[in-house]
Amino acid sequence: MKSVKAIIAGTIYTPLEEIRNGVILVEGHRIAKVGPRDQVKIPQGAAVIDYQDRTVVPGFIDIHIHGAVGCDLMEATPEAVAAVGKYLARHGTTSYAATTVAASLDRTLNAAKGLGEIIRTSNSLQVGSDKITGAQPVCIHLEGPFLNIKRRGAHPASQIQKPSTDLLARFLDAAGGTVRILTLAPELEGALALLEFARSKGLKVGIGHSNATYEEAKSAIEAGATHAVHCFNAMRPFQHRDAGIIGAVLTDDRISAELICDGIHVEPTAIRLLVRSKGIERLILVSDSLSGAGMPDGNYRLGNFTVHVASGVCRTVDGSLAGSTIMLDAALRNLSAFTGLSYRECLPCITTNPARILGLEKQKGVIAPRADADLAVLDQQFYVTQTYVRGRPVL
Ligand SMILES: [Zn+2]
Repeated sequence: MKSVKAIIAGTIYTPLEEIRNGVILVEGHRIAKVGPRDQVKIPQGAAVIDYQDRTVVPGFIDIHIHGAVGCDLMEATPEAVAAVGKYLARHGTTSYAATTVAASLDRTLNAAKGLGEIIRTSNSLQVGSDKITGAQPVCIHLEGPFLNIKRRGAHPASQIQKPSTDLLARFLDAAGGTVRILTLAPELEGALALLEFARSKGLKVGIGHSNATYEEAKSAIEAGATHAVHCFNAMRPFQHRDAGIIGAVLTDDRISAELICDGIHVEPTAIRLLVRSKGIERLILVSDSLSGAGMPDGNYRLGNFTVHVASGVCRTVDGSLAGSTIMLDAALRNLSAFTGLSYRECLPCITTNPARILGLEKQKGVIAPRADADLAVLDQQFYVTQTYVRGRPVL
């Protein structure tokens, strides 16, 4: 018989609904029931965990993350993935898209293969709960290598590639069906053919690291791009006579936008503009965090190059911003502070919205029957005090 847990909390945000004095019944890996305490019968023999006045929300989903605590996900080893997962869980994140950086062919194939194997194993329903120690990688996000060299940010110029369906096919093959997102620069020659190929393989296509004009970005949206990667960063700047890719992203409802909400990558007024343009329902907070996240200041690896972290800000040797050290819990508190929206109003940006991008909206990012029991327990200031990954408390 599966173990049953009854998790009681003062407030539950599903996040569609707010439930006061609520209870979540967890059976094995999954949620069986959620509702007010006076409406949900707790079965005999269930382990009752009472979080009193705390708030329980769905575990957070990070669709753009390169590493943390000294580990780069390009290492693609079970040890690196476990270390990153443990750190993410401390900040309420329960699933994520392991994100690549432009690197040599061998290194990218190796990362795709290694991560693919880890993802397939950790997602298998048979995985013993004692094997779950932190956030789980649910898919791969290929950030490049088909990027615009002018807007490459921290991706090394020597590893940027021209759009190639052959090359993408090799990556997808190596990853064994675990790639879910491809970021490309749509203005490159051959990019739209690559975009269509990626869509035919079931990928979501994000536009980013791009110098696209408004028209070029619109063509990509027409061709099926549905996502903009770290909006404003590594994009042709918006100008009132040359609105560019940012103008297209801000004004087209078919496209969702990632935001690195640390207040450094994008300043608060631009964040408010983004929220007004996209609405909360099309905004996705991402960490874009690097191996230096959760570590003291110093030099850290990103793929095969070095970035310097000082006071939590990551830069390459030439001074470009290179990813962040922020986690989604802090990003959410920032978004609330910058916009005046409540924590609850901001919550879809790290739960339901990223789940939708990954096609996992029934399984992740929501507290509902049959969804995975991925939960974050929060105090009044929205700091994480416990995290459950598929029914298992991991802190
Ligand atoms: Zn990037």
